[in-house]
Amino acid sequence: MVAGLAGLVGLVGGLATGLAIRFSEAAQGQEPLQEPVQAALPPGVASVLSVLPSSAVVVDGEDRVLRASSAARAFGMVSGDRLIVEELLALARLVRRDGEIRETEIQVGQDRHDSRWFAVRVAPLGTHGLVLVLAEDLTELRRVESIRRDFAANVSHELKTPVGALLLLAETIEGAADDEEAVRRFSGRMQLEAARLSSLVQDLITLSHVQGDEPLARDRPVALDEVVADAVDRCRMRAESRSIELAAGPTEGIRVRGDEELLVTALRNLVDNAVAYSPEGTRVAISVRRSDDEFVELSVTDQGIGIPERELERIFERFYRVDPARSRQTGGTGLGLAIVKHVATKHGGEVIVWSREGSGSTFTLRLPLLPEDPRVTENPVQEAVQ
Ligand code: ADP
Repeated sequence: MVAGLAGLVGLVGGLATGLAIRFSEAAQGQEPLQEPVQAALPPGVASVLSVLPSSAVVVDGEDRVLRASSAARAFGMVSGDRLIVEELLALARLVRRDGEIRETEIQVGQDRHDSRWFAVRVAPLGTHGLVLVLAEDLTELRRVESIRRDFAANVSHELKTPVGALLLLAETIEGAADDEEAVRRFSGRMQLEAARLSSLVQDLITLSHVQGDEPLARDRPVALDEVVADAVDRCRMRAESRSIELAAGPTEGIRVRGDEELLVTALRNLVDNAVAYSPEGTRVAISVRRSDDEFVELSVTDQGIGIPERELERIFERFYRVDPARSRQTGGTGLGLAIVKHVATKHGGEVIVWSREGSGSTFTLRLPLLPEDPRVTENPVQEAVQ
């Protein structure tokens, strides 16, 4: 971006130098001038500035703003004909004095939530004391960087726990080599920690596949009855071990378009959660219904602990848990709902949650319906090459 800015400054600078030569010719009487040189923005510069993606401001020899893009005004750099960010004004004066191009990063706005970051380049424009200020908005880039940093820190923290436990257990087993019973007990716990590590890594891989912008690698008609049957199958053992009944309603031959494996993963995450956050002996229902002509709703309803209203917005964030201790106890990775949300979005749908503390929750996957077109049925779309 800085290289781009440099090119643009060069371009504008070059244009302005050419124009400055024309001005001096005019001063010698070859071409009469209409306006005083100091106050005028050289013609042609305005059209170059208007195509720049950055916010642009041109100030004259008296610190008056000759031109400012609407973004520069909207971002609070300019008011009337004044540069109102002290740092920028000081830089413009320095550049005017010694003609050196300067670069810096500035923060505009005091409010932590409202302020924006800019990469700024200030350069002389021609030879009449004009100074060009170009500002590239870095706010979004910084936000993404900070999310990435937080995510990397969270992943390291999540990996540390089972890895640390494995290390400790291995040492304990070594120390208790003569005690057969202890060895059996600790190796059982090692298996548990290793399984936790393995599902965390698996969830991280799935998440990295679904959270990007690229289209689905597999995109073809998918029968929901198979998705439901597969997801229920994979959760059955865990549900049985806690005497929770899994009840799947009819799917009426409804089909959607997308990646069957991802849809099964999303539904399995929802059913897994329904089982994990419900008391023994309750019921989890999986139902499919057409919501209108264009969407189908795949719902998982439990009679579990429910989710406090204030937490509902956050549960789809990566690694967010309402009750971290309970999630750890059930072997949750904290990534299940983030995966569901991204799978829904990737399929052109969404996930909706209804919940009441103490009564239970319903998670609904809303997906675009595949139109019942016989040609589509007979000619399944070919799987995209990965
Ligand atoms: P986890 O691996 O912790 O279950 P998820 O991303 O799947 O992570 O869910 C995030 C949090 O949302 C869970 O830790 C839990 O607090 C809450 N949650 C998800 N599903 C349910 C549910 N069916 N009932 C109650 N709480 C739930």
